[in-house]
Amino acid sequence: MYYNDDSVLFFDGEYVKAKDAKTDLYSQSLHYGYSVFEGIKSYKTANGIKIFKAEEHYDRLRKSAESMMMPFDYSTKDMVEATYKLLEINRLSNAYIRPIVISSPNMSLSKGQKSYLVIEVWNWDNGYLTNKMRIMTSSFQRPNPKAFKVEAKVSGHYVNSILACQEAKDKGFDEALVLDVNENVAESSGANVFFEQDGKLFTPAKGNILPGITRATVFEICDNLGISYEEKFFKPEEMQGADAGFFCGTAAEIVALDSLDNIPFKLNWEDSLSSKVQTAYRHLVLEEDYLYLKSENLILEK
Ligand code: PMP
Repeated sequence: MYYNDDSVLFFDGEYVKAKDAKTDLYSQSLHYGYSVFEGIKSYKTANGIKIFKAEEHYDRLRKSAESMMMPFDYSTKDMVEATYKLLEINRLSNAYIRPIVISSPNMSLSKGQKSYLVIEVWNWDNGYLTNKMRIMTSSFQRPNPKAFKVEAKVSGHYVNSILACQEAKDKGFDEALVLDVNENVAESSGANVFFEQDGKLFTPAKGNILPGITRATVFEICDNLGISYEEKFFKPEEMQGADAGFFCGTAAEIVALDSLDNIPFKLNWEDSLSSKVQTAYRHLVLEEDYLYLKSENLILEK
């Protein structure tokens, strides 16, 4: 699914066959979840193959490595160039890109001695999800920001995501809505969350979440379309039965929510401002104009 005999990945400066690449079984990354990574997508746009928000993602990777005290000296520019080359070698256009910084053999709990950059790419042709998600409030909380660097994308954090996601699936839901240590809404297992009420969008304030690049892109779209939004702390009860809601992240893009804890969102998705944001995002990743949605918005708001 992710690679075949011909797939090539980037391993510490070299382009090597995925099937021949090796990692160390004595690494701190494997034993302690001490690695940082990114999730990025490329699209076949009218202007050629483009990695969406490439600089933002690689800047975040460098910051994640720095906050985990992992030695890492790739520049954003070098990583972006290496990724375009890797897409070309693998003949991919619509792709998922997974860079990961892994550490060298070390069983101690002191900071990393040496790290390696690996970049993996695979085909991601399915567009955005059209099924609306039924989500539930998780019994798991997101990691305490006093225990983890929550704004860094660290592998170890995702054990919490697996617990929350699987709990939701076991209970017959599509995904989890995970609260923070104060029982305010934080995010999903791998995406940020918004809800819409009376023509305005709301999303959890920073502090307990991974503030996503897609979340920032939603703000950018809202600014351009004249849609108002607010970052604030709120309880799940405020979101239950709101007009609309969505998850957003690089992989999922903008996914409509059907219900939270079996309480449906009120509007037809197509009638919500959130669906305009979803359409605009699709246009943006494909480098197409979306400002025509602005006038429709004004009509909606009357
Ligand atoms: N929160 C979590 C926990 C995530 O794993 C992700 C996906 N990286 C996001 C939010 C969304 O981040 P982005 O929009 O940068 O993909």
